[in-house]
Amino acid sequence: MIPAFEHAETALLVERRKLTRDEAVSVAHVCLDELPALIAIAHRVRLEWCGPDVELESLINAKSGACSEDCAFCSQAAQFDADIDVYAFLDLDEVIATARATLDAGATQFCIVVAVRGPNERLLNRVIDAVHAVRDETGLKVACSLGLLDRRQAERLAAAGVHRYNHNLEAPRARFDQICSTHTWDDRVATARLAIESGMELCSGGIIGMGETLDDRLDLAFELAELGPVEVPLNFLDPRPGTPLADVTPISGREALQVIALFRLILPDAWIRLAGGREVVLDELQAMGMYAGANALIVGNYLTTTGRSADADLEMLETLGMPVAGGDVGEGRYVLAADGAYSLPPDNLPSKIPLRVTGR
Ligand code: SF4
Repeated sequence: MIPAFEHAETALLVERRKLTRDEAVSVAHVCLDELPALIAIAHRVRLEWCGPDVELESLINAKSGACSEDCAFCSQAAQFDADIDVYAFLDLDEVIATARATLDAGATQFCIVVAVRGPNERLLNRVIDAVHAVRDETGLKVACSLGLLDRRQAERLAAAGVHRYNHNLEAPRARFDQICSTHTWDDRVATARLAIESGMELCSGGIIGMGETLDDRLDLAFELAELGPVEVPLNFLDPRPGTPLADVTPISGREALQVIALFRLILPDAWIRLAGGREVVLDELQAMGMYAGANALIVGNYLTTTGRSADADLEMLETLGMPVAGGDVGEGRYVLAADGAYSLPPDNLPSKIPLRVTGR
């Protein structure tokens, strides 16, 4: 085996510790022709640290467009000339209907997203009403992504039962001012920390393919690791017409798989969620992405782009033998059969949480 891979595998699986920056750099700079070996290690690390479960989440773009910020990848910035729907916060009925569809699609988490720098009082009140309604009507775990927060806002969301707060770093610190000029990387980190301090789980990741180098990607992974997110969404730039990054060429599927595997090695205990752009960049390598260390998916549509059907993802997971997570990791919802496949526990064993392994 490649010495850098062997060293990383020993650290993560035998010594059960996280990689240092130098160790990760050594792994990252092995030639891409060795990708299958890297993927194999990432998959073992995922199983050892997280188990085989896959967490599914759907999101709703509850307030679209007309955003005051200038994030270069985003078609919702008011100052860019992108062709998207612009609307104010949706009616509660529409939010609940989408949450019900999420439940029907087999997901356990529903994320309410709004396109703003941060919520004003009126918007926050409407979001909190929606959080209560979705929890009461569906029992889903509710996450929110509302931009920058102050402490009181974060505490109000936590008190309303928001389980997880999404606030991506988007890019490594050293590149952030090339991506956005209307707020800073430190602003983003401050909100991410507030989310944790207020009692919510932190979901924080980034967008890959905005012209960054391999070392920039490692920087982002280690900066995220320092924050300690429970979930790390990996978005892949799907360049949107009208945005400053419209002419950027999407990264290759091989590069995307390398990124997923490296993030798994650097953040071994996180939900690593394949999110926007995965269909474009991974194409027929979707399943390989799940073997490269990912253990969570956004199902259905993204904020401004259309995703593939939830049924296609459920069928893929069934084919891979990866059960859909029904709750917290480690509650004995699956057994390892003699043939190495993960499956439902036998009838005489208690399964605390219903397990869905079949496509709908
Ligand atoms: S990423 Fe968020 S904050 Fe930035 S322009 Fe888009 S909606 Fe606004």
